[in-house]
Amino acid sequence: MVPRVIFGKGSFSQLGEILLPQRRNSEAPFIFLVDDFFENRSLANEIPLLFNDELIFISADEEPKTAQVDALVARIQQNFDELPSGIVGIGGGTLLDLAKAVSILLNNDGLAQDYQGWDLVQRPAIYHVGIPTISGTGAEVSRTTVLLGPEKKLGINSDHTTFDQVILDPDLTQTVPTEQWFYTGMDCFIHCIESLEGTYLNAFSQSYGEKALDLCKEVFLEDHPEEASRDMLMMASWHGGMSIAYSQVGIAHAMSYGLSYLLGIKHGIGNCLVFQHLEEFYPEGVKLFNQMLSKHNIQMPKGICSNLSQSDFDTMVEVSLGMCALWENALGKDWKSIMTPQRLQELYSRI
Ligand code: NAD
Ligand code: ZN
Repeated sequence: MVPRVIFGKGSFSQLGEILLPQRRNSEAPFIFLVDDFFENRSLANEIPLLFNDELIFISADEEPKTAQVDALVARIQQNFDELPSGIVGIGGGTLLDLAKAVSILLNNDGLAQDYQGWDLVQRPAIYHVGIPTISGTGAEVSRTTVLLGPEKKLGINSDHTTFDQVILDPDLTQTVPTEQWFYTGMDCFIHCIESLEGTYLNAFSQSYGEKALDLCKEVFLEDHPEEASRDMLMMASWHGGMSIAYSQVGIAHAMSYGLSYLLGIKHGIGNCLVFQHLEEFYPEGVKLFNQMLSKHNIQMPKGICSNLSQSDFDTMVEVSLGMCALWENALGKDWKSIMTPQRLQELYSRI
């Protein structure tokens, strides 16, 4: 679990104070990895740079890759004689995951791809701080960083991945465009449904999942002042992340990974594209999802899989069925006889 967290409107202004005791000396910088949406915006001027700290703006147009992590680590090692005092990630799931991975690789030899999997990280990461600017993924609280590698899209899941400090400032999410707000928010909603409907469910996950689901319903189906809604979605994301940390996601995520691998479709929208077709598996969840879609007038793209070749489908099916734990959580130990490659291809072809 994340050992330190502060929450509240304006809490971002405490970042300088929080980092100060973590600064080893003036030669050991803090590296700030920031979503390039904030380049030339006021937040960039509020970042508490000291000594030789470095601010690196990074685009979130594509999901993080292992090679990108390796390149960032090499750049930092080349530019500084000392290991940084820490890494601060500011942005959505993309930037948070990059910050987690870079902080691990700065203290562990080899390449990012070597650590994709479960509990392969030997040494602690360097100190790292996460500051979400969009709510939903739960990346701020989870023990994984999801990376696209040369062979697979898979997380670095470890106890060293989790942030040392998180700052939850709902004000930072004010500028998120409606569609992106919806898609990333639905990531949280889908985490809840998949966790609560899964066979891995336990009291720990259920307690967080139920709270997150209630908050999602308030945010996406009721009318609340924007500020209250931002607060609630930020806490929903946190609770949703906690819920899956001790259980697993399910079919939408397993299929969304296939879409992302083959077509580069991003996580939030990919989950939504899949989830709309999963009524036979999650009837209540899909009903709520459709209400949310229509309340916010979101038009999802259509025909995504209409021109794919058989070998494209084979790739997606293979990537997706490789996520054994997700399928077992969703369908039980006998999942292979329930979700055959043919049935999965048929589901994909509806998207
Ligand atoms: P994102 O980080 O990909 O960002 C989506 C878009 O929103 C980008 O264009 C970004 O520039 C923009 N944006 C972010 N904050 C903004 C703001 N305040 N104002 C305006 N625009 C803003 O989005 P995401 O959905 O949060 O993250 C998706 C990523 O998270 C995927 O790579 C996925 O694999 C990962 N993920 C990780 C975990 C985990 O536990 N580690 C869980 C779920 C998803
Ligand atoms: Zn997700």
